[in-house]
Amino acid sequence: MAWRPIGAMENTQRFQVCAAPALIERVETFLLDLPTIRPHQLSMVTMNGQTLMIVRLYCSDGTVGVGEGTTIGGLAYGAESPEGMQLAIDTYFAPLLIGADASHVPAIMARLNKAIHDNRFAKCAVETALFDALGQRTGLPVSQLLGGRVRDSLPVAWTLASGDTAKDIDEAERMLAQRRHNIFKLKIGRRAVDADVAHVAAIKKALGNRGAVRVDVNMAWSELEAQRGLAGLVDAGCELVEQPVACADAMARLKGRFAIAVMADESLTGPASAFALARVAGADVFAVKTEQSGGLRAAQQVAAIADAAGIELYGGTMLEGAIGTIASAHAFASFRDLQWGTELFGPLLLTEEILAQPLQYTDFQLAVPTGPGLGIALDEDRVQFFRRDRKQGAVVAAAQPVATFN
Ligand SMILES: [Mg+2]
Repeated sequence: MAWRPIGAMENTQRFQVCAAPALIERVETFLLDLPTIRPHQLSMVTMNGQTLMIVRLYCSDGTVGVGEGTTIGGLAYGAESPEGMQLAIDTYFAPLLIGADASHVPAIMARLNKAIHDNRFAKCAVETALFDALGQRTGLPVSQLLGGRVRDSLPVAWTLASGDTAKDIDEAERMLAQRRHNIFKLKIGRRAVDADVAHVAAIKKALGNRGAVRVDVNMAWSELEAQRGLAGLVDAGCELVEQPVACADAMARLKGRFAIAVMADESLTGPASAFALARVAGADVFAVKTEQSGGLRAAQQVAAIADAAGIELYGGTMLEGAIGTIASAHAFASFRDLQWGTELFGPLLLTEEILAQPLQYTDFQLAVPTGPGLGIALDEDRVQFFRRDRKQGAVVAAAQPVATFN
């Protein structure tokens, strides 16, 4: 079924652009292995590199949409891995995509959701590629296809996760001097609570009012540890704590007890979990992630639930590369409110550029592109260079760990 124009606009040139079906003819997936600028330490894993799963959808009208799936530390964060996403898309998604009209994004996603349980990250990558192709077809940026943007640029927090207090302070000072970031998120939870709180306090003291300090515990604390930790973090001048504990009920008990915002991240796995968390008042803030949500429109649904429940919003990252980062940026640009900004710094953690034109990070903000689709272009030579399956000794390369586990 082709798009049907409405009423008096029936014969306008603008709508005829979409009148012909654009059938998906080919689905391509591959992995890119990229090094990080430094080891990135989280409570459960230390990342030494990032693997991007890239999907490209080739359509009969000549458009090619691109999407990306990433995870944090392979399988350290959730049930999907880049390798698993590639296998799932090649084996199970592709037969459902081939021959479908690529312009019907919601219909295609409904078909995928009916046939394929979970696999939210892979679905997000495919939906991104569909929207990218639709944007090129219509001449509209993805943010317009998502209903229109509320903002043209997004504040971007930087994560300090070297594991060393002095190094983290130096890194923060460099970011402030470059006017790249003035919001800093500290990854804690690996050490004893008191040692972590002392680390946070030292960094906040060094930065003063020049930089906001937040922490992410990645669920590492028990509720009792969190009670002690949150009290110490308030004294340290920390303004927000992300997922201190795993349990939603414990999050709800912690929220409001200390003068610090409690943010849900790992607990949020799409609209249903957002609704469940909102019902128990389990967070002051939602860290919305497009991959965790299951796609760009699903992320908008999570944001709508937050709006309805009086929960504030933050644009999270799965440390995506440029494609996934910009897909998220288009979605976050469409949120009514984004009180806590974003952490869309993923491409800055990588040593290698894969875009023809790098993303614009200036004055503490990321610019949301205005061109059709995602509004970015890949540097095809560099993409080919970093493909895992094109490397010499590809089998050996695939076996190299990109992460070490704590
Ligand atoms: Mg987090």
